[in-house]
Amino acid sequence: RIAYVNGRYVVHRDACVHIEDRGYQFGDGVYEVCEVTRGFVVDTVRHLDRLNRSLSELSMAWPMARKALVVVMREVIRRNGVVNGLVYVQVTRGVAGRDFVFPSPDTPPSLVVIARKFNMDAVAKRVENGLKVITVPENRWDRVDIKSTGLLPNVLAKQKAKEAGCQEAWFIDTDGMVKEGGSSNAWIVTKDGVLVTRPADHGILRGITRTTMFDVAEKLGLKIEERKFSVAEAKAAREVFISSATTIAMPIVEIDGATIANGHPGSITLSLRQAFFDVAEKIKA
Ligand code: PMP
Repeated sequence: RIAYVNGRYVVHRDACVHIEDRGYQFGDGVYEVCEVTRGFVVDTVRHLDRLNRSLSELSMAWPMARKALVVVMREVIRRNGVVNGLVYVQVTRGVAGRDFVFPSPDTPPSLVVIARKFNMDAVAKRVENGLKVITVPENRWDRVDIKSTGLLPNVLAKQKAKEAGCQEAWFIDTDGMVKEGGSSNAWIVTKDGVLVTRPADHGILRGITRTTMFDVAEKLGLKIEERKFSVAEAKAAREVFISSATTIAMPIVEIDGATIANGHPGSITLSLRQAFFDVAEKIKA
């Protein structure tokens, strides 16, 4: 396996960043994950637009020209022979002697690009069986709209989910309303077949898959309501699913031990999943 690290393509096993990298010391970095499907990188434009926003919200510089970054992403995908998988891009504020305040403006940002293959049999199994989620109180900061590498609450929540035999944890606000998953956005389908997802204000990450799902829903003639929904409403919903670049639309069949509908993945979720690739923007990897 090959990774890209600050200007070089290196063997994955030997790929290192400096001990005084601010990503390592402070979580002072941002990232993006793009899905690779059937040899295409999905939604590159939207992912890089969001990267641009994350960088700008944190006053961080682009590590290279946007077009050059796309070349590096495709090169890492190609060198790893990824046909179905993901490409991960991470930018940090660079290497500087440990000090909380920003280093001098001429400090070059660090850039890492990694690509990984999916085990498609495992993916098919998860779609067939659906996933289980637990709920946890929201304990993150109020700027989770920035895709920062500071993910400790997400790490702890997802570990707790795993220990409960589940695959995702949903953060719940103080009003009992669902925010989003540790690494995904949350959706329900009402009895009337309407898709419901929380508005993307500063309280959640505006998922790229979530955004493209609006286009997919339109193509399928499905209505979307952007509003908050409670854990109780989700438990009583016709279907529940999560979205992210690595899961697309993934059925949820259990929330805190309560079975959703008949306990099987919902047909609307599966049709959204099916139509997603056709609707999304694609470039050949
Ligand atoms: N929310 C959080 C907290 C996430 O980490 C992710 C995945 N990166 C998402 C939502 C989904 O975003 P996307 O569809 O862009 O992968």
